[in-house]
Amino acid sequence: MAELRYRAPKGTYDLVFPESERTERVLALAGEVLTLRGYRRISTPVLENTELFRRSIGEDTDIVTKEMYTFEDRGGESLTMRPEGTAPVIRAYLERGLYAEGLPQKLFYFGPMFRRERPQAGRFRQFYQIGAEAVGSADPLIDAEIISISAVLFQRLGLERYRLVLNSVGCRNCRPGYREVLTGYLEGIAPSLCEQCRKRAKTNPMRVFDCKEEGCREALSGAPAIAEHICPECREHFEGVMGGLEMLEVPFDVDRSLVRGLDYYTKTAFEFQFEGLGAQNAVSAGGRYDYLAEELGGPPTPGVGFSMGVERLMMSLDSEGLGMFEELEQMIVFVAGVEGVDRGRVFSLLKEIRDASFSADADFMGRSLKAQMKQADRLGAMLVMIVGGEELERGGVALRDLGRSEQWDIPIGDAVSEIERFLEGTR
Ligand code: ATP
Ligand code: MG
Repeated sequence: MAELRYRAPKGTYDLVFPESERTERVLALAGEVLTLRGYRRISTPVLENTELFRRSIGEDTDIVTKEMYTFEDRGGESLTMRPEGTAPVIRAYLERGLYAEGLPQKLFYFGPMFRRERPQAGRFRQFYQIGAEAVGSADPLIDAEIISISAVLFQRLGLERYRLVLNSVGCRNCRPGYREVLTGYLEGIAPSLCEQCRKRAKTNPMRVFDCKEEGCREALSGAPAIAEHICPECREHFEGVMGGLEMLEVPFDVDRSLVRGLDYYTKTAFEFQFEGLGAQNAVSAGGRYDYLAEELGGPPTPGVGFSMGVERLMMSLDSEGLGMFEELEQMIVFVAGVEGVDRGRVFSLLKEIRDASFSADADFMGRSLKAQMKQADRLGAMLVMIVGGEELERGGVALRDLGRSEQWDIPIGDAVSEIERFLEGTR
């Protein structure tokens, strides 16, 4: 083939069968796990006003400074393709007045997110997230519930090689004190920090923990941890979360250096890390964001949520050899036409079978009967209905069980009931 002129943009990919179907099933399972816990689906636009993200995620974060797909539309409005799902959900919560429907509002979403990062294994520019938000409750047990959802989904999928890490990143009361301590420390190590971190040390010191530079990471290994500076209220909340996780039988490790890459997090921060995924090992992450709604102009509203990277979830299934969903490629009937048969006969049988809710397909390439049998095999059909010849003149068709290579004749009017009998095993 000549060299292709058009390819998917860098960092994006096409999802094709069977991976597309496999992903769909994982999403359906996630939906089931969430629905069972009272979460309801919400769908927000891919485009939002740029200011929403600048305001919520934070001006000094990697996402806002260098990763957003932001453009001016033809009306001169600045729009951004959402890099994450929480700010849009809270925007919708406020705009639609969902608080009037009773609290907490438990919402979940599925959808693509966009960040212009350097593509690598497990890191894309368009990626898919499953996420949930519990809005309106400050109860540490709802943090535990939110965190447990990922663990339950992993369990339902049979995943084992992961670890939950947990931390508290403080609140308005304890952050300023910690900020001061951290700023003092950062001044001492300033010569070992990259230019961006030296800048961050002044504007938003906690963001230095996001830095991926080796030099910064080393210099920061002795930095004071927020967990050691949290106030009694935050500590009590953190203990409540840990107690809740114990009740839900979700094991965890406390990691006092864990911070998240978005400014809006308060109190609880967590991450599920998988073995065998390399550097991009976080499959699900999230935390509490008690000031976010206020930041967006709403009334004070506590909230907590998670988001899970679907590509990384699928990669962890692969790495544990799971989730092949054997029945994936099954089709029930292939309706094959003998050479020269009136295609209308084939087509109306196909309709009749599909109307009875059996998956069915037929030839659209003008293939010989032999080639159609091969096609049926490729599609994973259980049965082939052979239409044509003398059989058809007598008002019958042949049914072939591809699994056992057995074939028998049936009256054409019994097509659907014969398929039913075959599937029930009563033929
Ligand atoms: P990372 O540390 O991998 O950069 P993050 O802290 O930026 O992750 P969040 O913003 O919390 O991630 O997003 C939650 C989840 O979404 C991540 O744990 C990950 O599974 C997934 N994710 C984030 N960015 C990407 C990306 N560029 N490509 C694929 N998945 C991603
Ligand atoms: Mg990131």
